[in-house]
Parts: sequence; C-alpha cells; structure tokens
Amino acid sequence: SEGRILEIRIMGYGTGQFLLIARDITRVRQLEGMRKDFVANVSHELKTPLTVLQGYLEMMQGMAEPGSPNIRAMEQMQQQTNRMRSMVEQLLVLSRIEDSAELNLDNTINMNHMFEVLKEEANALSQGEYSLSFDCEADYHLYGNEIELRSACSNLISNAIRYTELGGSIAVSWKRVAAGGLFSVTDSGDGIAPQHIGRLTERFYRVDSARTRQRGGTGLGLAITKHALSNHQSELMIESELGTGSTFSFVIPTNLIEGTHQSQLPM
Ligand code: ADP
Repeated sequence: SEGRILEIRIMGYGTGQFLLIARDITRVRQLEGMRKDFVANVSHELKTPLTVLQGYLEMMQGMAEPGSPNIRAMEQMQQQTNRMRSMVEQLLVLSRIEDSAELNLDNTINMNHMFEVLKEEANALSQGEYSLSFDCEADYHLYGNEIELRSACSNLISNAIRYTELGGSIAVSWKRVAAGGLFSVTDSGDGIAPQHIGRLTERFYRVDSARTRQRGGTGLGLAITKHALSNHQSELMIESELGTGSTFSFVIPTNLIEGTHQSQLPM
C-alpha cells in the first residue's frame, strides 16, 4: 500500500520453482532515520558550547600564574575538549556520508592529484618518524565524491600511523587491477586479533579502548570509511596478523573508472 517500504527477495531452487519473500521494513527505516537525525542534531548542538568552553579555557591558560597547579588541570581540560570536538566533527561527517548514498556521476576525481594530497598529509602526520612509501601506479579519473573517498583513504593512512610503533613502515599504493582500482595501506604495526576484525567498522568499536584512547582516535574513522566506500560500490578488506601488521584495502569497480564504464575492460 501507499508509503510503505517493502524488501523483496527472490530465491530460485534450480527446479524452475521460486520463492518470493516480501518484508515490510517501513518501521525499521523510520527508526533508522530518527537515529540518524538525532545524532546529527546532537552533534550540531554540541558545537557551540564546546567552542565557548575552549575559548574561555584558552583565556584562563593565558592568565594562569606560571607553576600554578591549575595549569596541569587546564591542560587536561584542553585535551579532553579537543577530543570531544573531534568526535563531534566526525559524527557530523558520518551522518553526512550516511545520507549521501546517491553518487553523482558527473563528478570525477583525479586520482593522481588525490594521491599527492594524501601523501603530503601522511608526511605531515608521520613527522619523519616512520618509513613511508607511496606507489601510485595508475593515472586515471574516477566517478565519485572526492571528499568522501579522500576521507576513506586518509582514515586508513592515519590509523596505520597511529597503530604502528615509531620507526615502523607504512606502504600506500593505488594500482590498476582487473576488477578496477585497488587502494591499499600496509603497516608493520600492532596487528589485530581475528575476533575483532569483523567489528572494526562499527561506530565507536575499538580493540583496546584504554590504550587506543591514549593514541587519540575517535572510534569513528572506519565507520566513516565503510560508508564512504559503500557509496562508491566498494567494500573495506582487512587482513591482519597480531604483532606483524595489517593491510586495509578496497577496490573501486571498473564501472566507476572514467572511460571504461561503458566500453573496454582491461585484460
Ligand atoms: P580510532 O579512531 O579508534 O582509530 P577507527 O574506527 O579508525 O577508530 O578504528 C577502530 C579500531 O580499529 C581502532 O581503535 C583500533 O583498535 C583498530 N585499528 C584500526 N586500524 C588499525 C591498524 N592499522 N592497526 C591496528 N589496529 C587498527
């Protein structure tokens, strides 16, 4: 009937018989929409009070007597408000990306250019403490949303740096493969135990909260990456070994590569 959302699945039995299952998911979608709006509104509303707090804190820090015990407390407050601010910003990014499922195929991304931007960002983050390598093998354009795709990639790179001890190595590459364009980030870092791998892209899921919190993430990076990739018909792949390192990668399908989506496919 009018205004309802049905999920329809058709299963074939190979005997010429089919089973059709229809499920009314109107309520599920409504609740999902309410959750998204709520998160977006709360995040938005938290921005102003946070800015005010940070402003006053800075002022008080400027006025504090050198050596006063308040200085330590104010530094803590500063750190925590900074953390809260990144979380609020990431929540807003996430809700924007969750809502933008329609890909505008009029926009193209120059991958060479995007790769250069990612490289600069990674160099700035690593501050010379890691051995970084970059290999951009393919120079072509993609149909997609540059901001979304770039944040997907830059989350993977900043995680690789965050979860690798100083002096470790990180390799970032972008290659043409038969299925499309392969982006991958390999680190020689902590690695992840198998039981956690399937849950990493959940909001706020962290392997070891006490330890990872110290390293300054928000727990939202991979959720953002997952949604940004799904908007580009792609999925995050994770291979990891505890104590050895991890590879996070994804393939952007051929139909989103400019010039090949209608006609010729590579070998
Ligand atoms: P965070 O802001 O905590 O990094 P993410 O969503 O980006 O949040 O990642 C979720 C969790 O996945 C992290 O807290 C960390 O435990 C784990 N993780 C992500 N990337 C890596 C990596 N390259 N190596 C080891 N663990 C990782």
